[in-house]
Amino acid sequence: MHAFQPRFALNQPAVHVAFGAGVRHDLPAHLNRIGARRAVVIATPGQADAARALADTLGDHAAGCLPRARMHTPVDTTEAALAELTALRADALIALGGGSAIGLSKALALRTGLPQIALPTTHAGSEATAVLGETEAGRKTTRSDPRVQPGTILYDPELIVTLPLAVTIPSALNAIAHAAEGLYARDRTPLATLMATEGLRAFAAALPRVRSAPDDLDARAEALYGGWLCGMVLGQVGMALHHKLCHALGGSFGLPHAETHAILLPHTIGYTAVSVPQLLTPIPEIFGPEDTPGRALHSFARALDAPTALRDIGLRHADLARAVEIALDAPYWTPRPPDRDGLTALLHAAWDGAPPSH
Ligand code: NAD
Repeated sequence: MHAFQPRFALNQPAVHVAFGAGVRHDLPAHLNRIGARRAVVIATPGQADAARALADTLGDHAAGCLPRARMHTPVDTTEAALAELTALRADALIALGGGSAIGLSKALALRTGLPQIALPTTHAGSEATAVLGETEAGRKTTRSDPRVQPGTILYDPELIVTLPLAVTIPSALNAIAHAAEGLYARDRTPLATLMATEGLRAFAAALPRVRSAPDDLDARAEALYGGWLCGMVLGQVGMALHHKLCHALGGSFGLPHAETHAILLPHTIGYTAVSVPQLLTPIPEIFGPEDTPGRALHSFARALDAPTALRDIGLRHADLARAVEIALDAPYWTPRPPDRDGLTALLHAAWDGAPPSH
């Protein structure tokens, strides 16, 4: 059982969510519901064909496609897209894709006030947050603003079946990180804890099935359901050591977003479990009852063939000392305060792909 929180405050935005195979076909009805007549479909270049196919199903409701989204929402990309958007005279934004497509949609919504409909095709969870991270001249700035929260989210499992396993698995571990850190968030609520444990359970059940049969629609749907719940946790409570460390390493060394989350997760959770073992009991209960929280997550990730070593995604051994300094330099609340020796051991184990100590 989890400790009951006698005091809490809940911030739950009014978002229309629909879930189910084929819900994308209801897009015209959703556009009517929000009073929009001409929507533009936003995607990454790799999803340009999928974006066009979706726009084709909209008939008169389609204003065009902007398949130019990039990781970490570069401001120059947004400005180029804004010029095209103005020419298209669109009155709504449809984001088809993961955090990159949704990031561009959020950046355009911030600048135009246009309503957004998100159709997530990864598990990153950006659709469920009022947070936008943008990069300019190599610097990432993050803002929280209710204007960037998509007002409608359509989870259609048929759209995620094409997501390659090499993207799916790290993306799912990225979502699991939201739920894991939600369990010990300072501003956690009973509802967030329920969503986190159910999201973790859904991923634990679905991912082995997705890995052995990537086109199993039921397994994909359960993973998407887990991603929805974990995304809501991310949107509702504050994150701590794990997310801060991923942010620092991603920003300073250009490491890929989801893979960095996947690799660090067992280590940051193991490190934190020393201080809040009770709050993290759902992790071994769900992922490996015989294990500590960090080791249970490490075994789960290995069984899925997830990346487990920072050295495999481009971090050099010589960068580790600077990574420790960067992580120590950014003070933030986390249950177990980071110390130099602890972070050094954590990052060396994560660099090597070794199991965490807890
Ligand atoms: P992504 O959106 O870049 O997608 C990863 C890759 O998968 C891309 O190449 C994309 O083209 C491809 N892809 C997506 N859907 C596909 C499909 N159905 N079939 C085949 N390929 C598909 O990656 P991501 O991990 O979802 O998002 C990462 C970005 O999101 C980062 O910039 C991160 O900072 C941001 N993010 C923001 C928040 C937030 O709350 N603001 C939360 C999480 C992530």
